[in-house]
Amino acid sequence: MVGVPALQWSALDTAFGDVGLAVAFGYMLRVEPDSGWDEAAHSYIARSAAALETSPHIGLGLYRGISGLAFAMRYLSLRGQRYARALGRVDSLLVDQSTATLDRLPDAGCTASDQYDLISGVVGVGAYLSTMTDAPSAVPLLHRLLGRLVAWSGRSAPDGFWTSAAPLPEPGRPPKDSPVRCLDLGVAHGISGVLALLAVCARHGVDVRGMHGAADRLVTAVRHGLTDTPWGPDVAYRRHDSHPHHETSTPSRVAWCYGNLGVARSLQLAGLAFSEPAWGQLAHQLMRSAIRRPPDVTRISAPTFCHGQAGVLHLLTRFQDDLPFHDPLLTEYAESCLRSVLGQYGPQKKFGFSDFHPLTGPVDNPGLLEGAAGVALVLASLAGDVPPDWERLFLIG
Ligand SMILES: [Zn+2]
Repeated sequence: MVGVPALQWSALDTAFGDVGLAVAFGYMLRVEPDSGWDEAAHSYIARSAAALETSPHIGLGLYRGISGLAFAMRYLSLRGQRYARALGRVDSLLVDQSTATLDRLPDAGCTASDQYDLISGVVGVGAYLSTMTDAPSAVPLLHRLLGRLVAWSGRSAPDGFWTSAAPLPEPGRPPKDSPVRCLDLGVAHGISGVLALLAVCARHGVDVRGMHGAADRLVTAVRHGLTDTPWGPDVAYRRHDSHPHHETSTPSRVAWCYGNLGVARSLQLAGLAFSEPAWGQLAHQLMRSAIRRPPDVTRISAPTFCHGQAGVLHLLTRFQDDLPFHDPLLTEYAESCLRSVLGQYGPQKKFGFSDFHPLTGPVDNPGLLEGAAGVALVLASLAGDVPPDWERLFLIG
């Protein structure tokens, strides 16, 4: 690795580890069933499963925890035809830990966003459970989890999804607290991830009392976090209860994790799931506002997924798939994005594509979230006609 802050590759990590590569190779196996991808996928999932044996205190998270491992294992299980014993064990661990977590979390809400968010919290657990809505063991837990999210959505500051404004702690460290409360509006760590989960579940026939009302409250909360820019509305990263609306005067970055693009896809999915065309219209405004910005304002500096061009390209593609009309501005931007991603391929680069860190420059990263595997998934999804079912990890569909 070149000039990377001390990130540690982990067998149990989805973002930067073997779990993420197992999913990436699993998708390639769907695209090219006879090209040897199965062996690669199996080797990564086997390493992850073995690591679980020596990590009894693994957390629940989708991105470094039991939900991520379960997702990858189920993804490679060929609809449950293999890995049945291992998957049964992982699922049982997941159900026990999730139940204990839901018992422990206060009725009033969370104290830190990583208790509920997509990356580390119960929304990530829900993203995994949403892939097994035909499994009798998963449905009651998913219903309970969604019921809790619905209830939290009805609480105002300082409760519900209003959490400590202290920065997120390092993994494994206790949460910091702050008397100031903030509402995170992004997909990765905030309420747009909750909205996307409600939408995805509703679109797959999961019906929990109050889901539509909860989605409505979350959309309203996002609307209250909008600011005007010369290019159109912008979704702030977060709102604080001590001062209205937003925390900075510059637009949020154009990305999946935070900002207009990821939030727009959540709004679009929710609009479709709950038959609310106005949410889709707001989503379209956010998309157009983001892609009209000049490059120094978008702050896209890498070809990767989380906050790079591959993520932008995938979001634009999927957004257009569900848009009821053609918008040439979106098509043109997606095409230029694709050209730019392809232009950054380098056969001399260690993994073909490099991430780029604003402080340290190019970074060789093979991982899913901010590395070459995420770029490969987006390009493979564009090139063929195999549905990009890996995107459930990002709650994009
Ligand atoms: Zn990001």
